[in-house]
Amino acid sequence: WSSTHFAWTKELEANNKRVFGNRSFRPNQREIINATMSGNDVFVLMPTGGGKSLTYQLPALICNGVTLVVSPLVSLIQDQIMHLLQANISAAYLSASMEWSEQQEILRELMSPTCTYKLLYVTPEKIAKSDALLRQLENLYSRGHLSRIVIDEAHCVSQWGHDFRPDYQHLGILKQKFPQTPVLALTATATASVKEDVVQVLGLANCIIFRQSFNRPNLRYFVWPKTKKCLEDIHNFIHANHNKECGIIYCLSRMDCEKVAAKLREYGHKASHYHGSMDPEDRANIQKQWSKDRINIICATVAFGMGINKPDVRFVIHHSLPKSIEGYHQECGRAGRDSQLSSCVLFYNYSDYIRLKHMVTQGFAEQGTSAPRGGSSQEQALETHKENLLRMVSYCENDVDCRRLLQLIHFGEMFNPSCCAKTCDNCLKELRWVEKDVTNIARQLVDLVMMTKQTYSTTHILEVYRGSVNQNVKKHRHDTLSLHGAGKHLAKGEAARILRHLVIEEILIEDVKKSENYGSVSSVLKTNHKKSGDLLSGKHNVVLKFPTPE
Ligand code: ADP
Ligand code: ZN
Repeated sequence: WSSTHFAWTKELEANNKRVFGNRSFRPNQREIINATMSGNDVFVLMPTGGGKSLTYQLPALICNGVTLVVSPLVSLIQDQIMHLLQANISAAYLSASMEWSEQQEILRELMSPTCTYKLLYVTPEKIAKSDALLRQLENLYSRGHLSRIVIDEAHCVSQWGHDFRPDYQHLGILKQKFPQTPVLALTATATASVKEDVVQVLGLANCIIFRQSFNRPNLRYFVWPKTKKCLEDIHNFIHANHNKECGIIYCLSRMDCEKVAAKLREYGHKASHYHGSMDPEDRANIQKQWSKDRINIICATVAFGMGINKPDVRFVIHHSLPKSIEGYHQECGRAGRDSQLSSCVLFYNYSDYIRLKHMVTQGFAEQGTSAPRGGSSQEQALETHKENLLRMVSYCENDVDCRRLLQLIHFGEMFNPSCCAKTCDNCLKELRWVEKDVTNIARQLVDLVMMTKQTYSTTHILEVYRGSVNQNVKKHRHDTLSLHGAGKHLAKGEAARILRHLVIEEILIEDVKKSENYGSVSSVLKTNHKKSGDLLSGKHNVVLKFPTPE
């Protein structure tokens, strides 16, 4: 598909320069354009910042008729339209939030033989719910004026993805109704199972797939322990490495966003918060100030980012645990779009995981009362969320393997860690490590969980195992258990790491409970009958890597 001998090649190159101001094509752009313009369905996996928009905007410009673009967020659409209008390309959008009369006008213009629109953006719920739009599209199609259908952020189709949107599930009707129109599906995040889903739901059985490496060589990755002085650590890091440069700090809650921003202002940074419960006007204002460099640092929930086009973001800091590896990769991907060296720092502690898991479970419980979806798929989606979280915990807990490798494995990509060139915390350590068989310790921990009737928390189990005689241990007479103090000889943190590994491997299950004192969350360790049975009976061994002492 890289040939420069297609009928449109000259026009393509000329418009890429003249209209879009690009000197050349980025990797895969020409190939994707050639494939879609040849009439094929195409599925594109390209990391954030790779230049996906051009692969449909340029064909839209030089093809007759209208290109339909389905995109999940109005803010993202508006940003795109602004850029298109600046380049003198006629484009419009329809969303449920627009005045009815305004929508009517756009639909009328579409019908008109002199319609100038090259691109029509819609949100997915328009396809799912608006018969008027579908009729208009049928009309365009029958006149041969529906030139291409683009599904942006196509991973939203899949329940296995990190950003499932139910309205995307209806998009399959586009291929059914308009079989002759080529579909171009674009995403920056797709594991094998997400890809399968997208292809199946959208009906793209014979599509051509373009994928390119998700490695971002100009990003450095670090995971640091999150302690009480986390905000001071953040300040020190920015001050030492990216003073007065631009960055995003992702926080879990709205309150965290505000707290972190306020503290950073105290330290003298130009920081502001950004989250979903702010006025749209305030949010737009902050985005604007940020893009003009009047604010350097945005402390935001994940709502901030999709469609953010700032090329010189020098750091992305996670103040708390991301919800999945895919989400994490995408959020980090907002740094260094200009290919300059940038940093990604994740502050991790285990209690954030507990908190997040509780929020996810809670969110589903609330949704459950109104959601039309059946109980089982609801449960399955919750399981996926929990599993995604556990993978993230396992990524953070791993203090041995290359971070790049760990991320890329998740996207089904091979990566040689020696290519990381010491740009992640684990590669930087130059640690040597040894593999240790810790099956015996693992068995003792599982035994202890069973001895205490599967009703105590991780912390409590660890205290008993390490021989603590604090009040709580004594109260429950756990200092009299045979395994009390059995782990005394272990290095600090070692038993904790093994215990967490058992949770990650689902040999133990951590049941989250909301306790009576309002808002506080506690967890109880239980055994997974089958897997812990395998461990105790000798069918399963536990081997972990440990850094060797200097
Ligand atoms: P994505 O949607 O894949 O995240 P975008 O389409 O937003 O990426 O493109 C990211 C940035 O790269 C934009 O600022 C865009 O103008 C720029 N860009 C895209 N293609 C090219 C190219 N061929 N040459 C130079 N810049 C490009
Ligand atoms: Zn590395």
